[in-house]
Amino acid sequence: MNSNENINFDSFDREHLWHPYTSTINPLPTYKVKKAEGCRIYLEDDTELIDGMSSWWCAIHGYNHSVLNKAIENQLKSMSHIMFGGLTHQPAIDLGKLLLGILPDEMQHIFYADSGSVAVEVALKMAVQYQHSQGKKEKTNFVTIRSGYHGDTWNAMSVCDPVTGMHSLFGSSLPVRFFAPSPQSRFGGEWLPADIEPLKNIIENHHHEIAGLILEPVVQGAGGIRFYHPQYLIEASELCKKYGLVLIFDEIATGFGRTGKLFAYEHAGIVPDIMCIGKALTGGYMTFSAVVTNEKIAHGISSASPGVFMHGPTFMGNPLACAVAKASLELLLSSGWKEKVEMIERQMKIELAPAKECPEVEDVRVLGAIGVIEMKKEVDMAYLQKRFVEEGIWVRPFGKLVYIMPPFIITAEELSKITSSLLKIIMN
Ligand SMILES: *Cc1c(COP(=O)(O)O)cnc(C)c1O
Repeated sequence: MNSNENINFDSFDREHLWHPYTSTINPLPTYKVKKAEGCRIYLEDDTELIDGMSSWWCAIHGYNHSVLNKAIENQLKSMSHIMFGGLTHQPAIDLGKLLLGILPDEMQHIFYADSGSVAVEVALKMAVQYQHSQGKKEKTNFVTIRSGYHGDTWNAMSVCDPVTGMHSLFGSSLPVRFFAPSPQSRFGGEWLPADIEPLKNIIENHHHEIAGLILEPVVQGAGGIRFYHPQYLIEASELCKKYGLVLIFDEIATGFGRTGKLFAYEHAGIVPDIMCIGKALTGGYMTFSAVVTNEKIAHGISSASPGVFMHGPTFMGNPLACAVAKASLELLLSSGWKEKVEMIERQMKIELAPAKECPEVEDVRVLGAIGVIEMKKEVDMAYLQKRFVEEGIWVRPFGKLVYIMPPFIITAEELSKITSSLLKIIMN
């Protein structure tokens, strides 16, 4: 049924279309998708793949969902877009109300943006503009931890891990940030108090020039899929309070249930000043993000010259995106997501565990609906991809990581098919 021989890699695509992180001279193969539905991806030759990726953290309800389709279709009848400058609309208001209902009480102000990276840019700008409003004009830099990932635009890239984020490539065109080592205390393991020391030293010595600290809470995503101890966030938050740093949580990957909590900050029980959300916000239907913040930041910015926050994307608050985000959120909240994520977690813990016996495997870890097999060496992505497709699963490894984050609607049988195929391919 599944054989790569039947797959025609599209020559136009190969010659003209750039894909994420690929060469134009020698691109990795791309499989042509005809449609996707539920947890299934259908290739042009009718090969059927079970989706293990949720299209990079996004498609939590699976593909082609009738409720989400309907939300877009209905919105399309009144307007697909209208400028947000001087105008507003019900989908933006409805989504805002829903978001405030699930976010910490302190979060009262929402800035809609176009993508995760833009949300990060907006959050960083908010932090700098807030410091400026408080007369702290020298506080313009940022501190973060290694192995982070915050997006591919300029300033987002500047706070990504300097090695995997290729800082050397962009050289002095990239702002130079402060980096603390990433925490060694694992989620669910023992807290090692020494973990916070490097961050503490940086903040103690440089707080006069640092506007804020940006972190992915608990789960570091594309920078290595590391799960760290929530105590780190508690102590980092105290340092930020003590030294007047704006605390930014990038929940773009971790938001909307993926880690077993609706948002990952809940593992630590502390609330940041600014939070970025995106990815699963629209259930994977389209690009959209939001930056939410508290009164201190929003009113601070607004009460000093120029009295406004200096950002305003063309497609801010896009009605189609707001409408589908609202529908996705309602679906999530009424779907028993927590039980589903717990079931996925339990099943992955059991079914991925045998990979630990494999000599090529460095580590196996699971948190919420995220399962990771970390290999000792970098994997041959093109080869593994081909084997996975032959087995009928869609899993896209990178670097040393073979990881899955399936849609929450995945059935136990579908998930077993993914995990058994992974083990079979990795262990032979
Ligand atoms: C994906 C991601 C981003 C960037 O989002 P884009 O929509 O790709 O711009 C930022 N931060 C985190 C934690 C992410 O996972």
